[in-house]
Amino acid sequence: MNEEILVLVDDGHGEMTPGKRTPAFTDGSVVREHQFNQPVATKLVALLKHSGFSAHNITQGTADVTLPTRVKIANALAAIHLRKYPNGKVIFISVHYNAMSDKWSAPSGVETYHCYGSVEGKRLAGDVHSEILKGTVQSNRGVKEAGYYVIKYTSMPAILVELGFMSNLREASLMLDQDFQYECASEICEGVKKYFNITDATPKPLPVLTPSKELGYSKLRHLHNNYLTDVHIYKSNKPPEFVLGTPRKYEPIQSIASKYKGVKAIVNANLFPFSATEQAKSPLGYGLIITDNGQGKKIADYYQNSSPNFVDLIPWKNGSVTIETVQSHAVDNKRLAGIQGNAFFGASGCYALKIDGKDSKLYWDKVTHANSYTDRTMVGVDADGNWHMIIAECNSNSKGLRAIDQVNLCNDLKLTDVVNFDGGGSSAMMINGKFVTKNTGRSIPAAFICK
Ligand SMILES: [Zn+2]
Repeated sequence: MNEEILVLVDDGHGEMTPGKRTPAFTDGSVVREHQFNQPVATKLVALLKHSGFSAHNITQGTADVTLPTRVKIANALAAIHLRKYPNGKVIFISVHYNAMSDKWSAPSGVETYHCYGSVEGKRLAGDVHSEILKGTVQSNRGVKEAGYYVIKYTSMPAILVELGFMSNLREASLMLDQDFQYECASEICEGVKKYFNITDATPKPLPVLTPSKELGYSKLRHLHNNYLTDVHIYKSNKPPEFVLGTPRKYEPIQSIASKYKGVKAIVNANLFPFSATEQAKSPLGYGLIITDNGQGKKIADYYQNSSPNFVDLIPWKNGSVTIETVQSHAVDNKRLAGIQGNAFFGASGCYALKIDGKDSKLYWDKVTHANSYTDRTMVGVDADGNWHMIIAECNSNSKGLRAIDQVNLCNDLKLTDVVNFDGGGSSAMMINGKFVTKNTGRSIPAAFICK
């Protein structure tokens, strides 16, 4: 019974706690540690509850709660829990982002602390830390012991995770990335399960799709690995139209939709360069697109400046669809010119899910988040030429998908060629002018629409 296990989650600092922020980015802005810790703590509590644990965020506001108060709250909640469940267990997890200095500097990576000499704290730290290392590639600074106040004075096994460095430009750039926040929360949750030796007791069922009547045709509940995920599918017998927001400028999805008449469905197709260097070269450097929707004029350039190959889903003017891998405009200039002449449109996703009917793991290893449960946007075709635009949701009731689950879903839907466009916080879908997923409010540079 997981509910007998209480996980106390601490978001580390208040919004206004002095220090605890990045150096200034080139536009003068800074990110406060709280702006990362707090959403990760919130997501972690939701994921833990979804897994059946009792979980509590000990400081839910933005106030600067002192360390002794944090400890008092944690110890009091533990005592209440153990009165209710005399055989219950309580653990404490404090979420942080590290800093080397108040200037940009090289040190980076993840480390997990437990209190000096705590055997259970050490085991918990090890289990959580090994999960943290699985997602976005960051250097491993290891499991360490220390006498930090909240792990020293709390009455239960306690750890403090440092999920990256605010003073490192690349890792600072990840702090407000909702994909990364989800990933951190879901990795900590998996580590907690490992610590308590919780595995799915029932045999793994085959993925099934069950239409959900009350939610309309666009929403299905997808069961995978015993988790239910809300999946929205828009199916069309015509290729979707690809539109940019204002080129090289981000716009809310509803604002893009409002510019086009008769939009039935619209999803984000929002891509970001991988590395801080590439982001600096191309601050709005979304990958995409080539063409003209068959109208004989180029509507946008191929914007992807990122160095790794990107996977492009290309419907050709002759009606066929292929998945190509095209490097940057500079590298593949000639090839792109050929594509521009013969494609209906072209759009790059960050990895392929199905190619010619076969499962594909093309470039999963180069993409962060491929192994974490999160929102996902996919676009692909089936053997009859029907197009599917798909969003899988991640929220407190819906687990989200990993790349491998996306492949299973694509197999359920009998899709032959599919690319993943996006994961995480910016995934959004509108049907007939209404959001069928949560409205993230995030502005996006590019969208698919179906009329
Ligand atoms: Zn901190």
